[in-house]
This record gives sequence, structure tokens and C-alpha cells, in this order.
Amino acid sequence: MRAFFVALLGLFTAISATNAQEAGPKVVSDIAPVGALVAMVLGDEEGVSVLLPENASVHSFSLRPSQARNLQRADAVIWIGPSLSPWLERSIENLAPNAISVPLISVPNTLKLTIREDIGFIEHEHHGDHDEDHEDAAHDEGLHNEDAEEDHEGEGHEEDDDHDSMINAATADPHAWLEPNNAVVWLDEIAHVLGEIRPELREIYAANAQVAAGKIMITAAGISEKLADVREIPFLLAHDGTQYFEHAFGVAAQAAIRDVNDATPSVRRLHDLGQQLEDAPVSCVMLDSESGYKEITLPSGEMPDRFGTLRSMGQGQTFGPDLYIAMLNDVADTFVTCLKP
Ligand SMILES: [Zn+2]
Repeated sequence: MRAFFVALLGLFTAISATNAQEAGPKVVSDIAPVGALVAMVLGDEEGVSVLLPENASVHSFSLRPSQARNLQRADAVIWIGPSLSPWLERSIENLAPNAISVPLISVPNTLKLTIREDIGFIEHEHHGDHDEDHEDAAHDEGLHNEDAEEDHEGEGHEEDDDHDSMINAATADPHAWLEPNNAVVWLDEIAHVLGEIRPELREIYAANAQVAAGKIMITAAGISEKLADVREIPFLLAHDGTQYFEHAFGVAAQAAIRDVNDATPSVRRLHDLGQQLEDAPVSCVMLDSESGYKEITLPSGEMPDRFGTLRSMGQGQTFGPDLYIAMLNDVADTFVTCLKP
């Protein structure tokens, strides 16, 4: 795998397919990181429009009239799926019945993780009763031994593939774009779909997808190194939206205030969270622009020592083919800054 990507280093220029006299396919995406993957395959961002505005919550957005027109003109809607953006499902049926709908979470070989239901994530992972334990065990070894971690990166993915087929796409944690291996799987699918729409550009799309996959894998390797020193430092999430990033890079949230759907926490949840944090204090709290928390007081009444603000939708980045990688690096830097002792 690694040798293959190293061989791609020489091919780092994506070819823009829309230089041809004809316009390329028109694609609508739900969130900017997905739109950026499409732009990587197209070679530029000309043919892609993203529905979710920069500071809106993807879980509770609703479509605007101008966006409806975009949908009506779309050749393809490439999105994570209804579990992330339930507001988009019926709009596709009504407004874009002839567009190809590609819910990426359902693409074969996508790693899907079970939604974390318990308040304390770390406890849950050690006492859970499903297959994931097997893999988590391998993952944990990696935390203490760099060689084991390397092995995990090479071999773990195949295990994941077997494992994830058992998790339903509709009920999996939908924040799956934060696992770079998923982005790599999806690039191939995006190239395939765009090639169906413009068969004469099929080879360009396939080549662009390969180049993009190489860049993402190299970025992921760099992030793994960056996070090596902070993997064991506990943190609290304002919104449970980083499970895939945690899985990919070995950091581990202790708990989340808002759940995977970014629902306002119940009194019960806050109470349990308070107990959880008393037993296992955290030094860093990760806010994000989805959660609506600008600052936070812990259930104990104390202020945490450090905050970070995650921008996992690529907030603050210019939209285009570079956004996905810039977003990954930005999220990684936020972790390093917040977790660093
Ligand atoms: Zn979310």
C-alpha cells in the first residue's frame, strides 16, 4: 500500500477536465469536505456546489429556495447520506429525481463505526460486547508501541472492511469523512460516477482520484506523527462528531456533552457527565461550530484549562480541491494545541 502511494508522488498534478469546450458534470454536495473530494476528481471546483453554509449545523439545516434550483440542475448529488443530513433526502427525491444520488456512507468498503451511546466512551470501548473490541485492542497496543501502530495502519484496514459490513449505513455514526481511508474509498466511487456522466473524461477522473488518494494518505501519515505525543491525553467533546478521526489517529475522547446528532443534552446526561468527569478529569475541551457552544463550564462548575475549536467542515478554508486536506490538517493542529501538556 505504502509503496504504491510513494510511486504516485511523481504524479501530483490533477488534470482539470472542464477545460474542454463542454461544461463538466454539475454536482451538488451536502458539506464542504465532500464537495472538495468531488473537486479533486473533477480537477477544479467549477462543477461543484455545496449546500451547507459555513456556520450551520448539518444535523438541523433546511434547504433554501436558491439551493433548490441548484439541486434541480444537478447531474449528481454526492453526499454523506440521510443519517447526517436528513433534510436533504426528500429534496433529492422531489427536486432532483433524475440526478444520480450517491450517499457515500453506503459505498462498499466504507468504514462505518457504531454510534457511541454511553456517556463514557473509553469505558464503553473496553467493556463492549461486539466485534469492535478486537480491533480496539489492536489500536490500544499501538498507543504504547510505535511498531504496533505501524502494523495497525497496514493491516487494520482489511479487518475494518470485514467488520464494517456488519454495521448498517443508516445507523452508523455519520461523521465518516474524518477517516481518511474513507475519503480514499470514496474518491474511486466519485470518479466512477462522474465517468458515467462524462464517459469521454473517465480516464482523467480516474487519474485525478489516484493523485488525490496519494495526497490524502501522505497527509494522514504526517498527522499520525504530529499526534504521536498527545494520544493518551483525555479530552471532552462538545459534540460527538470526531469518532472517525479518533479511530484513524489514535486520540480518544472521554465523553461528549451533545450526542452524535448534536441534540441538546438532557439533565440526566449532564448529571452522568458530571460524575464521569469527576472520576476522570479532562484538561482539554473541544468545541466545534456545530455544537453552538462558544465557551463552556464543566458540570463541576469549573472552567477547563484548555479549549479547542474543531472546524471539521472546513470552516475558514477557501472552497476548492485543497479544502479536504486543509481541513484534516486544521483538525489535527487543533488537537495538538489543545492536548499538548
Ligand atoms: Zn455532527
